[in-house]
Amino acid sequence: MAQSPPMEVLCSPLLTLDELGAGLASLTVTVRMGSTGVTHAPHCRQVGKKAAAEQTLTVGELRAAGQIRPCRTCGGAVIQKLSDSQAKQLNALIPILETRVEAMRQAEREQRAQRERVHRADTIDKRAGHIVDGGSWKIAAERKYSDRYPANPRAAVVPCSDCDAEATIGFQPRSLEVTYACPAASTHGFLRLDDDEEPLATWPHRQPNRLVALSLVAPVLAGQDTSWALTYGTRVDDYQGTISALETFDQEHPTQLRLTPDIRCGDCGGPLNTWPGTTSEEGQHKARYSCDNRHEDSRYRSHEKSRVDEEIDWILHRRLHDHPSWATAPELEPDEQQVATRADDLARKISIFDSRVGAAKAVAELVETRARLAQELSQVTRIREQGALATAELPRYASGPASYAPRWEFTSLARTLLTTRIDVTKQAITVITPLDDGTPLHRLLRTREIQDELTELRHRQRTLEQELAALDRN
Ligand SMILES: [Zn+2]
Ligand SMILES: [Zn+2]
Ligand SMILES: [Zn+2]
Repeated sequence: MAQSPPMEVLCSPLLTLDELGAGLASLTVTVRMGSTGVTHAPHCRQVGKKAAAEQTLTVGELRAAGQIRPCRTCGGAVIQKLSDSQAKQLNALIPILETRVEAMRQAEREQRAQRERVHRADTIDKRAGHIVDGGSWKIAAERKYSDRYPANPRAAVVPCSDCDAEATIGFQPRSLEVTYACPAASTHGFLRLDDDEEPLATWPHRQPNRLVALSLVAPVLAGQDTSWALTYGTRVDDYQGTISALETFDQEHPTQLRLTPDIRCGDCGGPLNTWPGTTSEEGQHKARYSCDNRHEDSRYRSHEKSRVDEEIDWILHRRLHDHPSWATAPELEPDEQQVATRADDLARKISIFDSRVGAAKAVAELVETRARLAQELSQVTRIREQGALATAELPRYASGPASYAPRWEFTSLARTLLTTRIDVTKQAITVITPLDDGTPLHRLLRTREIQDELTELRHRQRTLEQELAALDRN
């Protein structure tokens, strides 16, 4: 009773009104309510000038008025004398409340410890990142500690980023050197842009490799501190697990419904991945389409996204110039069943992702994957409700002043619906559309257009003949 005066028990949000019971809820108390939610007995010296006037109300009414805290000096109220049964009920609640208060404090302590642990782990992870990325002035700061580290090198085997061999990522704690070695060729994992320059490491840009390298470096920096291991110890596995769970799902649930254009590298035929632009302390980088295959000239291909999109739009605009209404041909609308299936699949992928991602949830690539899945699901939901053509804003194109506009910016979904495949090289962009001459859709739409025109002409002819006949009769 000493630790939990009656008002603490009566007003605690950790006990429900039901638990108090009608007997205690109807107990009357006389209080002055302070502006910060602290209640006082009317005579209390701690009552502030802004406190409300004295009032007498039941415990139930007081609790309904919002969360309150009883003053520690006066006990928070003058309480009506308790009957024997009320006193008994109150006493029975005290140990229950004390257990709950202790559990709540424990949970708070754990949360605080957890936050501190994640913060320490992040700091270590960031420092490890400087070492893995190398070359930065920040690595010089790390050298101050390196002679304390164990001398034993650490290593992990990974699939080579350039061939099928098993490459080794190594870390020398004393020299802070992170290395990549493929037994097939010493150039693998590196790109030599110019003979005079150091070869550029490409392997850290493959997300899993970088995570593996971090997991070699970070535990050395952490030493006795277990925060990194507890927070990120399973990150490589969680990353791989998430990626392969999503891949397995995709293999088992192939979809015919594309939500982004089929844009390909014109040099190797591989898909071009969209790399979203970034704005960071190092400056602004524009969004790009890039091919992840190394080509015969040992280079990767990458194209500025806005330029490619502009060119695609220009080609589509020209193709639709004489027939803007073709942009809303019902035949372009995807199959309803496919749309419904895609919505279900996306919802399932999101739940697979969430249950699998664990310690890898802050990995930038996965953050992006999660955001893309959510965005695709909301797009598919809109397609389900309004249709794809409307979602793609194509009616605006077909009915608007499009054919007179010198340029037109299509939405990404519009580019998807209006194209079959797009090939991009440095020199040219080739856009294949379902509306191209000779395609079944082109034949169908042109036939329909000609028939409509003939119907109109026949109607016009009839009108003219009737007029002529009328003239003859007069
Ligand atoms: Zn008081
Ligand atoms: Zn290799
Ligand atoms: Zn390519």
